[in-house]
Amino acid sequence: MFWRIVFFIGCQLAGGAAGWLVASQTGVKTTELEALAAGVLLGGLAWFLFDLSRGARLLNWLRVGDVSEVALSVGLWGEASARVRRLVLSRDRLLRESQDRLQDFLLAFQASPNGVLLLDAHGSIEWFNQTAASHFGLDPQRDMLQHIGNLVRDPGFVRYFAAQDYQQELLMPGRQNTPTRPVRLSVHLYPYGKGRLLLLSRDVTALEQADAMRRDFVANVSHEIRTPLTVLSGFVETLQTCAFTEPEREHYLALMAQQSDRMQTLVSDLLTLSRLEGSPLPGTLNWVAIPAFMRQLEQDGRALSAALHPATDRLHALVFDCQVDGAIAGSDSELFSAASNLVGNAIRYSPVGSEIVVRWVLLPDGRVEFSVSDAGPGIAPEHIPRLTERFYRVDHSRSRDTGGTGLGLAIVKHVAQRHDAELKIQSTLGKGSVFAIVFPASRYQVSSI
Ligand code: ADP
Repeated sequence: MFWRIVFFIGCQLAGGAAGWLVASQTGVKTTELEALAAGVLLGGLAWFLFDLSRGARLLNWLRVGDVSEVALSVGLWGEASARVRRLVLSRDRLLRESQDRLQDFLLAFQASPNGVLLLDAHGSIEWFNQTAASHFGLDPQRDMLQHIGNLVRDPGFVRYFAAQDYQQELLMPGRQNTPTRPVRLSVHLYPYGKGRLLLLSRDVTALEQADAMRRDFVANVSHEIRTPLTVLSGFVETLQTCAFTEPEREHYLALMAQQSDRMQTLVSDLLTLSRLEGSPLPGTLNWVAIPAFMRQLEQDGRALSAALHPATDRLHALVFDCQVDGAIAGSDSELFSAASNLVGNAIRYSPVGSEIVVRWVLLPDGRVEFSVSDAGPGIAPEHIPRLTERFYRVDHSRSRDTGGTGLGLAIVKHVAQRHDAELKIQSTLGKGSVFAIVFPASRYQVSSI
C-alpha cells in the first residue's frame, strides 16, 4: 500500500514538474502554477489508467482461470493475484483429494461381493454397484435417479420399503428366481444422513440351501436311527414280558443283533462322511498299490456274497480283473471305502448267481479307471442324478433289507472328488449298472510300490 501511495504521488509530481517545465520553456500563455496543476492532474490520470489496466489484467486472468501463469508480479494487484492464485491452487488440491477419496470409496463399494445401493431422501437411486445391478437387474445408464419402487417390484420389497421399519432384513426372490432354480436375496435398508437410505443385498441361495440340507440331514439321521431303535426296544419289551422257548429267544436275539448292526453301519458311514468333510485333502505322497488293493477287495467281496446268502451254495460270479500294475496316489482307507461300497452295492442289489466284474484299466489318455459292472436290476434314468445324495434310495425296502444306509454313494462321490477323480454311473433298467471312478493320469504311477 505504501508503495502504491508513493507511486501515485510520484506520478502527480512528475506530471506537475513536466507541466511547469513545458510552461516555462515554451512560453505557453498560462501561468506556471496552472501548468503545474494541470500536470499534477494529468499525472494522477495517468496513474489511474495504468492502475485500471493492471486491475483489468487481473480480472481477465481470473475470468480465464488459468492459474498456472502469474497475472501480475508486483504492487497491490500483484499481491492480490498471488493470494488469489494460492487460494485457487489450494482449493483445487482439496477438491482433487476429496474426489480421489470419493473415487476410492466407490471403488471399494464396487469391489464388495454384496450389492450396495444408495437412495436419496425421496427414494431415488443415486448410485449402485455392479452386484446390486445384477441382483435387481438395474442399468447404470438407464436407472440412475429412478425411484426404487419403480424398478424393484417384488411385493415383499414394496411392503418393506413402505413400512419404513428397517430393523430386520428382508428375504426375497432374486431376479433369476425360477421354480426349478430358486435364487434368494437378503436385502437390508439402513437409514443414514438426512433421510437417505443405504441398501445392502446378499445372495443367500447357497446359505439357504445349506440350511435346508442340514435340516433334512438331521431329520434323515433321526429317522434312520429311530427305526431300528423302535424295533430293538419292542423286542426288549417282548423278551422281558413273555416267556419264550430257547429257539424263539434265539430268533428274537438274532433279529435284535441285525438291528443293532444296522445302527452300527449307519453310525460308521456317518463318521466316514464327517471324516471326509473334516480332513485335509489326500495329497500325492502316499501311493496305494493297485494289485494288493484288488486282492483285499476280492477277499471282502467274496466274504460279503457268502454272508448275504448263507443258505445257498450258488454265490455271485465275481470276476476281479486287474489290468494295471501300478499305484494310485491317495488315502488307502478312503479309496478302499469307496471301492468296497461299489462292490458291496453290486453284490447286495444283483441276484445271486449273476456276474459282477470288478476291473482296473488304463485308459488311452493315461487316466485310470476302476469300475464295477453288475447284471442287477439297473436304475431308471430319473434316479441317476440323485443317487449320490445322502439317504437317497431308489427302492427303500430293498436297501434296508440288504443293510443299506443310503450313504454309500455319497461317500464314493466324496472320495472321488477328494482324489480329483470322477464318478460315472451308467445303468439300464432290467439289465444292470456300471459304476466307475476315473482317476487323473497325475495320480497314477506305473510301477507298483
Ligand atoms: P444304500 O446304502 O441304500 O445302498 P447307496 O448310496 O449305496 O445307498 O445307493 C443309493 C441307491 O442307489 C440304493 O439305495 C439303490 O437303490 C441304488 N443302487 C446303488 N447301487 C446299485 C446297483 N449296483 N444296482 C442297482 N441299484 C443300485
